[in-house]
Order: sequence, then C-alpha cells, then structure tokens
Amino acid sequence: MSNILDCAIVGGGPAGLTAGLYATRGGLENVTMFEKGMPGGQITQSSEIENYPGVTGEITGMDLMMPWPEQCQKFGLKHDMSEVKQITKNGNVFQVIKSDDSVVEAHSVIVCTGSSPRRAGFKGEEEFFGKGVSTCATCDGFFYKGKEVAVIGGGDTALEEALYLAKICSKVYLIHRRDTFRAAPNTVKRVEENEKIELVLNAVPDEVYGDASGVNGIKVKSKDGELRDIVVPGVFTFVGNDVNHQTLIQENGTFLCDMNEQGQVIVDLSMKTSTAGLFAAGDMRIQAPKQVVSAAGDGAVAAISAIAYVDELLA
Ligand code: FAD
Ligand code: NAP
Repeated sequence: MSNILDCAIVGGGPAGLTAGLYATRGGLENVTMFEKGMPGGQITQSSEIENYPGVTGEITGMDLMMPWPEQCQKFGLKHDMSEVKQITKNGNVFQVIKSDDSVVEAHSVIVCTGSSPRRAGFKGEEEFFGKGVSTCATCDGFFYKGKEVAVIGGGDTALEEALYLAKICSKVYLIHRRDTFRAAPNTVKRVEENEKIELVLNAVPDEVYGDASGVNGIKVKSKDGELRDIVVPGVFTFVGNDVNHQTLIQENGTFLCDMNEQGQVIVDLSMKTSTAGLFAAGDMRIQAPKQVVSAAGDGAVAAISAIAYVDELLA
C-alpha cells in the first residue's frame, strides 16, 4: 500500500465521521480522519438533541455521537488523534501538516473542522454552556416553550433567532450593547413590532446565574452602571460565529481554496472547493444550516465526490 492516503479527513464531527463512513465503505482503502479531541464534534456539548431523524426519547449529544466512530472503524477508517496545523498542495498531492510538524500526504482531503460560536465573555457563560446557555435556537428553543428567554446580540442572527424564539416562548428579552442594530432594517422593524420581544438596549450581560438544574437568570448592566436582574431559564448568545478555517491558511496568508467574506469555504453541490481534490463539509461551508443532520449529509456527499476524484486521478 502506498504511503499516500487516498483521503485525509480533517475534523471528526458529524461531517467528518460521515465522510469517513462513506469513503471507506465506498471503496477507498487508505483513509485517515484527523481529530484533535474526542470524535463527535460540537454536538457532544449539548445536553439534549431531539431533531435528529429517527432518534426518539431523551438523548444527549454525546449519546448520539458515541456509536459513530465505531461504525466507521468497522469499515477501515483510521483515526489519528492529532491537531492539523495546515493543509497544503504540491502538484496533485496534499500535505496534511500536524501540530507536531509531522506530515501525512494524501490524494484528496475532506476538510470539516466546523465552526465555533463566539463567546460573549460574561460570568457564568462557560459554566452554564449547554445547561441553559445556548448558541442554537433551532436546537434548544423548544426546551423553553411557553417560558421567557433572553437573547444577546444585535446582528442578523440575534434578531432572526429572537423572532424564531418569540414564536415558541412567552417572552424574549433582546439584550444589545448599543441602541442601534447591525441587522437588516426590515428585520429590525419586525423585531420592534413584535409584542413578545422586549428590547433591553445599551446593556451588556454581567452574569448568568443558576444552580445544578440550570440557569435561573441573567444580570445585565446598563451604560450608567445600573444592574437589572432578568429571571429566565434560557439565555441565547448570538455574538458572531467563527469558522474554523485556520488549516487552510497558506504561508503567504492566502487560503488553499476560495472563501467568502465571512471566511466560509465556497463549495458547489458536490462539496467541491475551487481546489481539485479538496472538499469541504458541514458548518464550515457557505450557507450551512448548522445542524447535525445537514453536516452528516454534507460528509456523505463530499466522500462520494472524493471517491470519484481519486478513482479518476489514479486510473
Ligand atoms: P463540528 O461539530 O464543529 O466538528 C468539527 C470537529 O473538527 C471538532 O470535533 C473539532 O475538534 C475538529 N477540529 C477542528 N479543528 C481541527 C484541527 N485543526 N485539527 C483536528 N481536528 C479539528 N444541531 C442539531 O442538529 N441539533 C441540535 O439539537 C443541536 N444542538 C446544539 C447544541 C449546542 C450547544 C451546539 C454548540 C451546537 C448544536 N447543534 C445542533 C449544531 C451542531 O452541533 C453542528 O451543526 C454540527 O456539529 C456541525 O458538524 P461539523 O462536523 O460540521 O462540525
Ligand atoms: P454579527 O453581525 O457580527 O453580530 C454580532 C452581534 O453581537 C453584534 O450586534 C455585536 O454588537 C454583538 N456582540 C459582539 N460581541 C459581543 C459581546 N462580547 N457582548 C455582547 N454583544 C456582542 O454576527 P451575526 O449576527 O452572527 O451575523 C454574521 C454575518 O452573517 C453578518 O454578515 C450577517 O449579516 C450575516 N447574516 C445574514 C443573515 C441574513 O442575511 N438573513 C442572517 C444571519 C446572519 P455590535 O453591533 O455593537 O458590534
């Protein structure tokens, strides 16, 4: 067997693991998934997932993801528990450069390093993350059906998610650090007209507090230093999202493939990037719905495309 991998998969979340399953089961013999931590991805932080098709009953994100690596390994996927520092390409061969500077070569690469919601930086945010503090209204909004919640942020995401939550929850406190919004004017108008949304402006979160059962409320500080206690069981932060695209940055500061202005990888419907043999899947690609099911779907599509690419390359 050649030392060059048929396919290197960078990132072991739902997209990477599904890519691994489809690539190995679809006939690629020499496939390694590089994952810096435990496989499973962001969803392992979630205390409950109830929108993955076919999975009923109470299940944590960790429970959901637990069997995925074993299923892939059954078909021959190798797992390298390493952080990848950089991906480069020389001729038709990719170099996967690990943090320890060792290099693994590959004929194709599927990059699926996901995204990381930015943290707002207030007290209690980390402690209660996944236990009342959330960055995903589609995922966690339903847990607060008929209850009051707080939303932090003033961009399109915060306002759109506030509108979404207002359909489920009894009241939404929209906490924003200024008195004007970054979001589109039409979205701002819809928020201002929504009777279930109370605007808490010129205010920053000071502390989220709670107990073992979860969040009990959030204290916000106004510009003049006044503290207000908002009693809610759920706090949603939407203060921006960073795509984990660091591995694609080249020595000269450019990216290995085309990216959009938000640093997301531009792909077509086959998950092909602008660089031949390089595919991207999951949260890091343009227009990602940021859901486990769509990340997994992307991973399958990317693997099918990678198989076709490698078959043709080595024919
Ligand atoms: P990720 O899950 O982000 O996985 C990327 C992986 O790449 C990670 O394991 C990371 O460690 C690894 N990685 C990153 N950089 C490197 C590197 N340089 N080298 C090696 N490895 C690297 N979605 C739902 O559908 N339903 C829900 O109920 C739901 N709830 C959520 C709750 C929370 C609290 C959060 C944070 C997210 C939730 N989501 C939910 C969203 C869902 O988790 C993501 O959309 C999904 O995980 C994206 O999958 P991915 O494989 O693209 O990326
Ligand atoms: P964003 O536009 O960067 O907005 C982040 C918001 O969070 C800003 O209002 C910012 O306040 C606030 N914020 C940042 N750090 C904070 C902190 N530490 N504490 C409190 N507040 C903080 O992010 P986004 O809303 O996720 O949008 C990202 C991009 O996607 C944007 O280009 C957006 O237009 C786009 N998007 C578009 C659509 C759409 O077209 N329908 C939907 C969603 C997103 P300030 O305003 O004071 O900086």
